[in-house]
Amino acid sequence: MIHTKTFELRTSGRDDFVDITPKVSQAVSESKVSRGLVSVYVPHTTAGVTINENADPDVIHDILGSLDKAVPWRQGFYQHNEGNSAAHVKSSMMGCQATVPIEAGRLVLGTWQSIFFTEFDGPRTRRVIVTVTGE
Ligand code: ZN
Repeated sequence: MIHTKTFELRTSGRDDFVDITPKVSQAVSESKVSRGLVSVYVPHTTAGVTINENADPDVIHDILGSLDKAVPWRQGFYQHNEGNSAAHVKSSMMGCQATVPIEAGRLVLGTWQSIFFTEFDGPRTRRVIVTVTGE
């Protein structure tokens, strides 16, 4: 069985992490798949998706700070003429796809894990494509 769902979200700020776990869980519930995989795909070049801790918000703060330190927004350093190369690089560092197993109709996530949409050139309206496959 394959079930696909696309949803939109609005990010705030240039950089933003949005917990999309409830939306992905909802798509899994609607699919009626009890055992399988869910793919979370972000069709953008300056945003991404990652799975990390949602218990302590300082973790997200530290990830964003580390990415900024590694890939700063700088004039005159990058070639891409849109001026948003830092966002493109961070997008590739996070990746545009995450896969999570499904068991007993639920996402198999660790206690502290959540699925985050990662914005690097916002605020914008963005899309996420969720594909559930299994039985
Ligand atoms: Zn660009």
